[in-house]
Amino acid sequence: MWIRKTEREIKAEHNRKTLIIFFSILFVSLFISIMLDIFVYSKIEGNFNPQELLEKTMFRVPRYFAIALIFAFIGTRWKERRLAVCLRCNRAKRFDQISACECGGEYVELDKLKWVSDVGGREEESL
Ligand SMILES: [Zn+2]
Repeated sequence: MWIRKTEREIKAEHNRKTLIIFFSILFVSLFISIMLDIFVYSKIEGNFNPQELLEKTMFRVPRYFAIALIFAFIGTRWKERRLAVCLRCNRAKRFDQISACECGGEYVELDKLKWVSDVGGREEESL
């Protein structure tokens, strides 16, 4: 059954997700920038000396790092479409401002819930 997470669990998970998103975007953007740099400048300059090309690319890396940082910050601000689950009947829907369910229960954001197996021997309510 779905139960509410504690505020501490919600905060810890939020921080963990934010860190994963931040570093994923940072490394992917940095990687793409460096690959594009090597590709574009080798075409423009007609330079195929790997040593020289690498030195010039390394010179531009701080600039790409700054751009990747901006992308990473924007990425952590991105709001994903959230789901909500009714605590009473387990129906799910997209999260909106309406929290009342037809069954009389309450929809709660899925991010604020966790699934635990019903070990107490409690009988399942019929849906
Ligand atoms: Zn319901």
